[in-house]
Amino acid sequence: MIKFMLFIDGTWLYSNTSRLVEASGEPGFVLDFGKLPRVLAEEVGRRLGHDDWTVVRTHLFGSYAANVDPRDLEPVERRLNFFTMLRQQHHYEVEAFPIEFRGKRLRRTDRDPGDLFEAKEKCVDIALATSMLFNASMANAYDVAIAVIGDQDFKPVLQSVRRLGKRVAIASINGACSGEYSDPADKARVRDVELLWLEDLLPRLARRYDPHFLDCQSPTHKGERRVETTYYPKRGEKFYCPACREEFSRQKDAAAAAGTAFAGTGGGNGGASESATYAPTDTTLMGVVKHKRVDKNYGFIMVDSCGEYDGAEYFFHETDLVDGTRFAELAEGTYVDFQVKAESPSGKAPPARNVRRRVAV
Ligand SMILES: [Zn+2]
Repeated sequence: MIKFMLFIDGTWLYSNTSRLVEASGEPGFVLDFGKLPRVLAEEVGRRLGHDDWTVVRTHLFGSYAANVDPRDLEPVERRLNFFTMLRQQHHYEVEAFPIEFRGKRLRRTDRDPGDLFEAKEKCVDIALATSMLFNASMANAYDVAIAVIGDQDFKPVLQSVRRLGKRVAIASINGACSGEYSDPADKARVRDVELLWLEDLLPRLARRYDPHFLDCQSPTHKGERRVETTYYPKRGEKFYCPACREEFSRQKDAAAAAGTAFAGTGGGNGGASESATYAPTDTTLMGVVKHKRVDKNYGFIMVDSCGEYDGAEYFFHETDLVDGTRFAELAEGTYVDFQVKAESPSGKAPPARNVRRRVAV
């Protein structure tokens, strides 16, 4: 059995995610970090002619902004939550380094034009190189290092790891990859297999909601309760089939037409959880578009952010979209960022605002 160990330059990967989204042809493309190690190992294993392999560990090296202006705390928190998700759900070894912001805004465009402050990333490259070399020097830690990188700075460590008798594979992104890594002749002697382009593996790396069977829990459900769905209810959340959801929204529309205040999902729209926690007004959240009513120009967003508000559903209307996000292009399953517009009077499906398609992880 050959042992793979992955070394991911997280900072590089985030900043090039938009290239992957573009290459996928799916505006809602989200890279599945749970699948990434296995897909890369399969591919490298195939190229080395081995089908007996294991991924002993996946290391990701990244950074996060520290000491930012309080107005920018949300994205920082999201990044930290993302690292936590990688550790807890996918068993990544994450090394994250703070970037000191001295109380300033994250984006240069939000700062004073005369402010010459430049955020400096520290340690990430060195930490990756150290870990790859350290593990290469440990007997039997790994046989093949799979480096998910693009910056040419890693060349010396790749060469050293190979001199220690380990094999190296590189996975990268077109347009964000050092020419020395992709050189077919490998004149720099940095790898043992052809370079893997992540673009070529996108269908296998996309986060998908695979079809499975669930029992509809609506008390008014008619016929066979077991239905096929791509929906994954959170813990404690009820599942309602599309027919029942349709019926609920018909009732809701009728109620709205009759002048009744909007009464939320009514336990209907795909299963807004009765136990879900709603976030306070103005909180920024990440979620997935669900149950879009194309004919009515509205839909629902289910929070999916690996946080305490997961599973809660929010109502949005076409007029709540910002940053060029268009209702027609916002397919169900698309990840979006949004803010909570107001609390819901009924305690269900509060309205969202500033809904924008999410591009990066
Ligand atoms: Zn049903």
